[in-house]
Amino acid sequence: MSFVETAERADLRASVAALATKYGQDYFRECAREGRKTDELWSEAGKLGFIGVNLPEEYGGGGAGMYELSIVMEEIAAAGTGLLMLVVSPAICGNIIARFGTDEQRDRWLPGLADGSITMAFGITEPDAGSNSHQITTTASRDGSDWVLNGRKVYISGVDQADAVLIVGRSEDAKTGKLRPALFIVPTDAPGFEYKMIDMELVNPEKQFGLYLDDVRLPADALVGSPDAALSQLFAGLNPERIMAAASAVGMGRFALGKAVDYVKERTVWKTPIGAHQAIAHPLAQGKIELEMAKLMMQKAATLYDAGDDWGAAEPANMAKYAAAEACVKIVDQAVQSMGGNGLTTEYGVAPLLSLARIARVAPVSREMVLNFVAQTSLGLPKSY
Ligand SMILES: Cc1cc2nc3c(=O)[nH]c(=O)nc-3n(C[C@H](O)[C@H](O)[C@H](O)COP(=O)(O)OP(=O)(O)OC[C@H]3O[C@@H](n4cnc5c(N)ncnc54)[C@H](O)[C@@H]3O)c2cc1C
Repeated sequence: MSFVETAERADLRASVAALATKYGQDYFRECAREGRKTDELWSEAGKLGFIGVNLPEEYGGGGAGMYELSIVMEEIAAAGTGLLMLVVSPAICGNIIARFGTDEQRDRWLPGLADGSITMAFGITEPDAGSNSHQITTTASRDGSDWVLNGRKVYISGVDQADAVLIVGRSEDAKTGKLRPALFIVPTDAPGFEYKMIDMELVNPEKQFGLYLDDVRLPADALVGSPDAALSQLFAGLNPERIMAAASAVGMGRFALGKAVDYVKERTVWKTPIGAHQAIAHPLAQGKIELEMAKLMMQKAATLYDAGDDWGAAEPANMAKYAAAEACVKIVDQAVQSMGGNGLTTEYGVAPLLSLARIARVAPVSREMVLNFVAQTSLGLPKSY
């Protein structure tokens, strides 16, 4: 692995940055406040090949990998337009279907996921399971060749924009009767599938939903991959999810840092700009260091994932998600502080990041669950739960 990005990757970075800056934070906030979606940005990004950059070429994707998709995510977030559905649709759902779907599933979903004309949400979290995904109770039973799904999900992003949701459920093992994880593609217009928006204090056009699956009948081919390998298949989607959450936090951190730096270079209330005071300069410098370190870990995770090393990618993917979220939350807080009263105004646009930045600490996996993973897996410490 080279620490210098190839010309192709640098070009991709520059092209995505150009598109995202053309829209910018004002567009993103207006969409959120007016209850509109960022359809224009999404579909232009799709047409330019950014959304499906990681998906196979034979299905209309760019044939590249998670490294390139993380560039897309980072640059979009660095312009103040962080699209949450990039984490879900091409990264989790696209990767899982590309790697484990049948030919028919690939033909049906991948070209649309690649050009952005299809969006797919991802549902694992349940109200009574939360971080403990072994506890999920959404159940798929066989009825002839059909599947019938029942259960509830919570905080599922972008369901109102999605054509389908990749649902993590449990199906009964025919031999042992034990429930084991299984992945199903559930169209959002399937009878028995309902969703309700959850009010969130987030200035974000992409919303979260509670899902209700009440005898949702699906054909046999709604099951993705093998029910015997659902855990490893899930893993193939969860590493990209963490890499993308890291990319989103790195991008948002860069955006907030940029705003703060521009401001403190100009703002003068004594004889020098406030950025000359070390109490202002050092925390911003610290933020820059922490962001760059998180980005390096994210690139390591993406490189290992793209080399086919799912297990090798797990540790850096978790660490990158943790480090990027921590750096981003700290930078946003420091940006607000550095800008004084202006840090809290609508005009300067940093205050909405206070809550948006915290998403990366909670989702897709909380900072505590990442620390648990590192404690148990990297350090070999015993489990408390
Ligand atoms: C904006 C947003 C978007 C989301 N989008 C999606 C989505 O698209 N799809 C989806 O499936 N989910 C989504 N989620 C859900 C998200 O993944 C969960 O919120 C997250 O995994 C935490 O689960 P929980 O909210 O139930 O918290 P809980 O599991 O109830 O945890 C609450 C607190 O307790 C801590 N905790 C729990 N167990 C332990 C333990 N063993 N050790 C130490 N601490 C512990 C947690 O770290 C957390 O701080 C989204 C959430 C948000 C906020």
